[in-house]
Amino acid sequence: MHRRIFRSFAVLVLASVAVLAVAFGLLFMNRSQNHEKEAIREKAHFIAGLLNHGSFESYNALRVGDTRITLISPRGVTLYDSYAGADITVDRGDRTEFIRAAAHGNGEAVRPSDTFGADTFYYAVRLADGRVLRLSRTLNNLNDVFSAMLPMLTAVTLAIVCAAYFLTSRLTRRIVKPLADADFERTDEMPYEEIVPFMQKINAQRQEITGQIHKLKNRAETIDAIISNMREGMVMVNAKGNVMTVNQSALDIFGIPKKKLVVDKNIRHICRDAEFMRCVELCLAGEYTEIAVPQIIKNTPSGERSYNAILSPVKRGGVNDGAIVFFLDVTEQRKAEAQRREFTANVSHELKTPLTSVSAMSEMMANGMVKDGDTAVFADRISRQINRLALVIDDIIRLSEFDEGKAARDFTLFDIFDMAQTIIEAFKDKAKEKNVSISLEGYPVQINANSRLIEELLYNLIDNGIKYNRENGSVTLYIREDGERCILSVSDTGIGIPPEHQPRVFERFYRVDASRSKQTGGTGLGLSIVKHIAEHHGGKISLESAENKGTKIEITLAKR
Ligand code: ADP
Repeated sequence: MHRRIFRSFAVLVLASVAVLAVAFGLLFMNRSQNHEKEAIREKAHFIAGLLNHGSFESYNALRVGDTRITLISPRGVTLYDSYAGADITVDRGDRTEFIRAAAHGNGEAVRPSDTFGADTFYYAVRLADGRVLRLSRTLNNLNDVFSAMLPMLTAVTLAIVCAAYFLTSRLTRRIVKPLADADFERTDEMPYEEIVPFMQKINAQRQEITGQIHKLKNRAETIDAIISNMREGMVMVNAKGNVMTVNQSALDIFGIPKKKLVVDKNIRHICRDAEFMRCVELCLAGEYTEIAVPQIIKNTPSGERSYNAILSPVKRGGVNDGAIVFFLDVTEQRKAEAQRREFTANVSHELKTPLTSVSAMSEMMANGMVKDGDTAVFADRISRQINRLALVIDDIIRLSEFDEGKAARDFTLFDIFDMAQTIIEAFKDKAKEKNVSISLEGYPVQINANSRLIEELLYNLIDNGIKYNRENGSVTLYIREDGERCILSVSDTGIGIPPEHQPRVFERFYRVDASRSKQTGGTGLGLSIVKHIAEHHGGKISLESAENKGTKIEITLAKR
């Protein structure tokens, strides 16, 4: 700011000095020329007086300073010229001053002298004898005036420029200081009222910018929070395939300890799989791709996990500018798919076996291959197989109801202890057949539940307790409450479940010993239905079992 003000000042000073110098120069020149002319006139009349009285010794005595003296005859012939270099043969009768002097007594003229070139003042006086005395002198011109003025002009200019420098720096400081001290947020306290509108505008813009920055920051933080808290792995790459952003989940999936190990490096530093890299190239060329990367399998405490990679191209201004890659955990999905495949195969198998034997037996009967006495036996076998089929189909329907979330929710309040007693009564004969005793312990507990499903749950557990028991064994049903929960357990002293099978007995169609299960009319779906019923009532199920000692299944249900 100081420089600019000083520059403007300096230009102003120099321009003023130049204009003043020219004006004064012209004025001085004019004044000095007038002085010179006046002096020459006086001198001319003085010398003319002397010449008229003949009171001088020689023409040379007329020499005065640098004034040229010429004496011209009435005819214009030069009689004497004090300028040594003058050509006295030149006829000067045509000179204006001569003509005027001859006619009127005196005359003058200014013209560039033939002899000296510069402007010369000529003054002529007619003498008493008719001769003409002419005095001439080269007048001071502008150059001479300037040359005379130059040292002083330079000194004055320098002095003014120095003063201007000093003044402008003080002035700048005085202008700037209040601005530096001002609180620009308070436009009512501005040091100069001229800047108030600017400051108001600047303040409004600043507020807008602050708001926008705040918004941008919030948005960036939100995006950051989303990216870093996503369960899915996310990697963003530029057009060259170099990693720009990678989130923690992606690092965890690939076991990369630190972000900086992969940022700015090619994405192959994250996943080297050839198929995956082919997809990255396709995606960078603008194609959306999805791939189940076989290599992307991670061992975690909860077991092996599988991932799918989804690659979407990023376009900016219609040009492919990179890609976003998501790694989705598809473990559960794949597990569910595998379970569905297994279930379908199991269902087909479970239904096909009894149907095949029913079909074979009925064909034999139809072809008369069965003796009359055996017909009843065959009919009984067919009926048992069909009952079994009906049981399996019933269980499958029940499970599919749970799968589709269509299981009945008509909950009523009833006493589960009462219900257990009735069921045990119904099992008395079956238990007797197997020499197994059943007992009920605990106390009445009111629960709000679907009574049909709870009945089925108790039925399945007690049935298993009897089925997988040994001679003279026992089954104990214990019902109690714990705060807001009802706890029921079914313990038996049966064959138990080997530890390696325990995690799987709740799976559909899973049987520890398939032939024993089938012999006893089991479908392999009972415990899986029990688990669904417990979960349907917000309950939990736990299993304790020891081979040849017995099994205890405990279920915790919400009372309300
Ligand atoms: P199933 O119809 O075969 O009984 P479940 O789903 O009820 O099917 O049981 C799955 C498997 O778990 C059974 O085949 C059996 O091997 C085992 N199991 C269930 N309950 C008991 C128990 N109380 N004692 C021993 N093994 C059992």
